[in-house]
Amino acid sequence: MPFTMQASSVGGSCFCKMSYFSFFRGSESIINCHCKACRGVSGATFSTWVSVNRTRVLHLPTDHLNAIRFKESLVRYSCAMCSSHIYTIDQKHPETIGFPLGAITSGLDDAAVQAHYCVDEKAPWHTISDNIPQVTSCADFDPLPFATSSSN
Ligand SMILES: [Zn+2]
Ligand SMILES: [Zn+2]
Repeated sequence: MPFTMQASSVGGSCFCKMSYFSFFRGSESIINCHCKACRGVSGATFSTWVSVNRTRVLHLPTDHLNAIRFKESLVRYSCAMCSSHIYTIDQKHPETIGFPLGAITSGLDDAAVQAHYCVDEKAPWHTISDNIPQVTSCADFDPLPFATSSSN
C-alpha cells in the first residue's frame, strides 16, 4: 500500500524499505547521543535522534520487527529483514518516539541538531567541534528538552 506524503510530514524507512514510518512536524527535538549504549548498538561515533510526541506519529510499523532492550527502559525496534534501526521507545517516556535521523528520507532536509547528549560517555578519540549545547550526563534524560512548541 503506497503511502502519500503530506506537506508537513516527515517520512523514513529501513534500508530494504519493508518498514516505514511517518510523523507530522512541529515538536521534534534532534540530538546527538554519545552514550555507550547508542555507540554500541549503532557501531557509530554517536547516534542522532529525532524525538517526536506520539500524538504526531502518522505511521509506526509493528510487524516484522526485532526488539531489543538496550538500556534500562529503552527498547529499540529494527527491521527483521535488513536490521536497520527504525525507532526506539523509552518506557519512562512512552509518549515519545525516537527515530534515527539517518533513517529519515523526506521532510526534514533542514534538520539541525540542537544538542549533544551524554558527552561524558563520548568516544575518547572524538572531538565535538561545533558550538551547540552539550549535556554532560545521561542521568536525567529528557527526550524533548529543546522542543520549541508543545504538541497536543
Ligand atoms: Zn528493512
Ligand atoms: Zn544514547
